[in-house]
Amino acid sequence: MNEKQILDWLREEDEFQLEELWRKANEIRIAHVGVSVHLRGLIEVSNICVRRCGYCGISADNRQIGRYRMTEEEILECAHKAVGFGYGTVVMQAGEDYGITREWMSGLIRRIKAETSLAVTLSLGERPEEDLIEWRKAGADRYLIRFETSNHELYDRIHPPLGDKTSDRFVILQNLRKLGYEVGSGIMIGIPDQTYEDLARDILAFRELDLDMIGVGPFIPHPETPLGQCMPKASANQVPNTEQMTYKVIALTRLVCPEANIPSTTALATLNKADGRELGLLRGANIVMPNLTPPQYRVMYEIYPNKACITETSEACASCLSMRILNIGRSIGNGQGGRRKRVNK
Ligand code: SAM
Repeated sequence: MNEKQILDWLREEDEFQLEELWRKANEIRIAHVGVSVHLRGLIEVSNICVRRCGYCGISADNRQIGRYRMTEEEILECAHKAVGFGYGTVVMQAGEDYGITREWMSGLIRRIKAETSLAVTLSLGERPEEDLIEWRKAGADRYLIRFETSNHELYDRIHPPLGDKTSDRFVILQNLRKLGYEVGSGIMIGIPDQTYEDLARDILAFRELDLDMIGVGPFIPHPETPLGQCMPKASANQVPNTEQMTYKVIALTRLVCPEANIPSTTALATLNKADGRELGLLRGANIVMPNLTPPQYRVMYEIYPNKACITETSEACASCLSMRILNIGRSIGNGQGGRRKRVNK
């Protein structure tokens, strides 16, 4: 697919034509990653963050939220619950929190790997290379860091640098790959000033980066952030942050990156709590990330408002999501569910 073809689909509004896109994405998903849906248990280990991202509710500038960092024992308890629920992976996500030290996280990864057979995914922000090296040595398998938008000018505006340290997430992604991680990235859809051309280039960038995991979700304005307070310009070229646009991006991502693991995200479920997750799975996605974070912390990990599942327990999330997957005729994946690469004959 080229940029023009992607743009045509992004601008398509005819429901009948879009059915064709959903059908193609579903077919490609079945052919390349199969019918099972892999479950990744999400542990939001800390909402402390040094960054001042204009979009994010846990930005250091938001003084309206309480801050927390989970203890090692609390995180291990979540990992053991993940095993009990049949998940193959835990994803430890946090703000960019340097109270999470290199040594502490290495010790935690080692314990999870010694006590369980889980794959360990990290999503801890733009950490120094030494941290990434040590965590890989400790046994971390995967790292997620979204590039958010491939429009560098827009990215710099919404993601201010930390001191004099510039932020280039494309370089970080290449480095993670060299270190031997499975690499995941992604974007937000409908950021104020994001154009259709930007979005088409984002999707092409997924292919260029040969990503193993690709998370795409709608931008949801948070009132305590600069982007939550600015009204997007009413321009024909502004990408809407809608459910429909999210399905289009999921489907096109599947067409462009057939083997990637693509989650049906919580942000999508936030826009359509009734069946957003299921529709994502039927239009190209093959991964779901049930939340394992204890409820008392979950409410404080408010990256955007009205987040789906914010008051549920991990037990409730496990049974609700399993039921939703089975109800649409899909099975639940066994094992760690890493990327299956095509074998060259
Ligand atoms: N600190 C790590 C990082 O920056 O990669 C991980 C945590 S960060 C909260 C995880 C993701 O949340 C971001 O990559 C961003 O895409 C998403 N996010 C943050 N604020 C959002 C918002 N208002 N709407 C939708 N997604 C948002």
